[in-house]
Amino acid sequence: MSSTWHILGAGSLGSLWACRLAAAGKAVRMILRDDRRLQAYQRAGGLTLVEHDQARQYAIPGETADAPGPIHRLLVACKAYDAAPALARLAPRLAEGAELVLLQNGLGSQDEVADQVPHARCIFASSTEGAFREDDWQVRFAGHGFNWLGDPANPTLPEWFDDLQDAGIPGQWTVDILTRLWRKLALNCAINPLTVLHECHNGGLLEHLGEVEALCTELSQLLHRCGQPEAAQDLGEEVQRVILATAANYSSMYQDVRANRRTEVHYLLGHACRAAARHGMHLERLERLHQRLVDNLRARGLPSD
Ligand code: NAP
Repeated sequence: MSSTWHILGAGSLGSLWACRLAAAGKAVRMILRDDRRLQAYQRAGGLTLVEHDQARQYAIPGETADAPGPIHRLLVACKAYDAAPALARLAPRLAEGAELVLLQNGLGSQDEVADQVPHARCIFASSTEGAFREDDWQVRFAGHGFNWLGDPANPTLPEWFDDLQDAGIPGQWTVDILTRLWRKLALNCAINPLTVLHECHNGGLLEHLGEVEALCTELSQLLHRCGQPEAAQDLGEEVQRVILATAANYSSMYQDVRANRRTEVHYLLGHACRAAARHGMHLERLERLHQRLVDNLRARGLPSD
């Protein structure tokens, strides 16, 4: 098996992982969207990672999905809504037993990807690291965090796991990856949509704590019904802690909306509402929140799915 890391998506997280792996001497190849993006990437000479105001460029080779050669190890670092269509194009290149690491936030995209690549192993990741694009092919490492990785279908540690430690990527293997993804999704549902609707930073929600608490009650009911009681534990308390600890920050959904970018709502609040409907649950506040958010996004001319 080749030990090359193919990385789909030269955006914030994809570049952050690519540069650290390359710095540790691992073989890395970037997969760009199309020939136009590949040419722009090649003209730039690679990816630049900025950390503590120090910029360093890495001349990581690039290619498109149509390049020849099998892929054994793939980090999927695009947005949740781009993941399944991107994998549909790449599927013919995936070797038997290929391993994918899915960095997407929320839930739902992982299963969409798995449907496209039944012959591959899909490893789910939940990341609290923070990075943003300062420019094309230039990413700033903005917030140190942690990465949880796991495979709900197979608890065996992948043989490349030490590559993460070698590259200084903080991570741990967990058999409870779904619990972590559900917990993060619930935190997101309780905070992010309200920051868009009230047009405020996270701390602005301190004026709407009644609304936040009522949402947490419904989210906890949903998590229990979905077989995720651990993800429901003290959810309300943690949501309040996060609001206080990040009071001055703007949520990722708020930032997407302000920048006129498509949000990942379909895989966050949308996923929660679909799960509730599947279980025949009527969660009035969650459904109303979803409807208000969809109306708000449509009024701004943004996709609501
Ligand atoms: P991003 O900066 O928007 O990067 C996404 C990249 O995917 C873009 O470079 C885009 O290409 C590329 N892409 C999309 N479709 C593609 C295709 N078919 N082939 C090749 N490349 C393709 O997104 P991000 O912030 O890294 O987020 C990625 C995921 O990680 C999201 O689910 C996000 O919620 C999650 N996450 C992000 C952070 C963070 O700090 N950024 C933290 C935790 C979790 P173009 O450049 O051509 O548009």
